[in-house]
Amino acid sequence: MKKTILLLFLSLFFLVVLPHQGNAAASTSKIFLDGEELILPSDVQVTIVNKNVMIPIRVVAENLKFKVDWNQNTRNVKIQQNDKTISLTVDQKQAMVADKQVTLNTAPLILNNTTVVPIRFVSEQMGLNVKWNNKEKIVYLINTDTSKVPNVEPGNGSGNGNPAALTRVTDIQFANNQLVVSMDGESKPVMTTLKNPDRLVVDLPGAVFGDLPQPLNQNMNGKLDVDAYPNVTEVRYSLFKQDPGQVRIVVELNQVKDVQYSQNLIADKLIIDLNVTGDNVATVPVTPVGDSGRKVVVIDPGHGGKDPGTTSITNKPEKEYNLALALKVQALLLNEPDIELVMTRDGDTYPTRPERVRLANQLNADVFVSIHGNNVESSPQATGTETFYYQRSSSKELANIIHQRLVKAMGLKDRGVKNGNLEVIRDTTMAAVLLEVGFLSNVIDEELMSSDVVQMKAAQAIADGIKEYLGIN
Ligand SMILES: [Zn+2]
Repeated sequence: MKKTILLLFLSLFFLVVLPHQGNAAASTSKIFLDGEELILPSDVQVTIVNKNVMIPIRVVAENLKFKVDWNQNTRNVKIQQNDKTISLTVDQKQAMVADKQVTLNTAPLILNNTTVVPIRFVSEQMGLNVKWNNKEKIVYLINTDTSKVPNVEPGNGSGNGNPAALTRVTDIQFANNQLVVSMDGESKPVMTTLKNPDRLVVDLPGAVFGDLPQPLNQNMNGKLDVDAYPNVTEVRYSLFKQDPGQVRIVVELNQVKDVQYSQNLIADKLIIDLNVTGDNVATVPVTPVGDSGRKVVVIDPGHGGKDPGTTSITNKPEKEYNLALALKVQALLLNEPDIELVMTRDGDTYPTRPERVRLANQLNADVFVSIHGNNVESSPQATGTETFYYQRSSSKELANIIHQRLVKAMGLKDRGVKNGNLEVIRDTTMAAVLLEVGFLSNVIDEELMSSDVVQMKAAQAIADGIKEYLGIN
């Protein structure tokens, strides 16, 4: 009896609740090929004709890397699939597949200048498994011949089938025509370029999503806003495989003749450079983005991991203060539309100083801010805020702007803006400063530097200073 009631309840639940969920997605149809959504021309839809799901043949065939020819006069589509030719004619149920005549249950049609064919034909003749989700209006095509579409086999890379070995992707950014993927471990990226539409596919075997600052929907995918880059229409990311993990990032390219990129691994970040300024690639690059892109700000929480920095009077390592403040700066600038903010570390890790420098230089950053705490154990009364730059006038200007605000926010003694021969501000090539926010060896300074409220004020001062220097707002 109880079971019957439960079943009744469940069926009511499905009747009442699920159709509502479906409605939102029902207005537009989608096609996924091997887990990747195909970009359909704006006026092209998956259509149902005589109870047959009809899909645009050109989009699908081209994504399978088949050659597609359209003859306007005979209204004939020829698809060259490896050594097999498929010939379809609009409004004719008869088609030729490798010199054999086959009969379609519904003739190909032209809808909005696009030839659509029954999904079953695609399934039977092109070697695809097909699934149709009627509620969500999604076609899933799965290529059964894996040799045709580049793919990563499970077990490749660092996954080893061991969940503990999975690498987490902690940030995905697009800055200065470069894709920057932060990870907490290793994954050997597999790159593929595809045509029609042009795109660069980056697979990260053995990787799953960590705590991303970017939105991730319930289907474990999301996209970045890349309006500022003329050659890139979209950057999408998804958990392509769950077991073992594989993150896929797709960079949709716009009017690119020949997709070229170079890749770097710096401080646990995979950097894929579409500017291709390196000497490891010799062909035509994507148009450099110039000033149309966002400003790139690199925030560098000093020390980390095995390098604790100095020790505070309360016995805490400097690296913790630096990170706590840096993360607050990140939070303030994360949603700034004109800024792409990259952290040299966002956890307790230790990028070396040359790596921090290389990261900022590789990204062609506009601003580099290193955050530290001071310490003079021998003189616990030493107090105050000081800011370092090295020689460059841009760095000095940035130092002056941030310092003035930071001193106000901390309310400590103004120890001034100083020229300092410090590696991270010396070897970087942009406006670069190193902040000594206060003295961790001083009781009062340390208490302020530990306070969430004061950290928030200091972070606001740093963020406002960066924006003022960059001329934003
Ligand atoms: Zn330090």
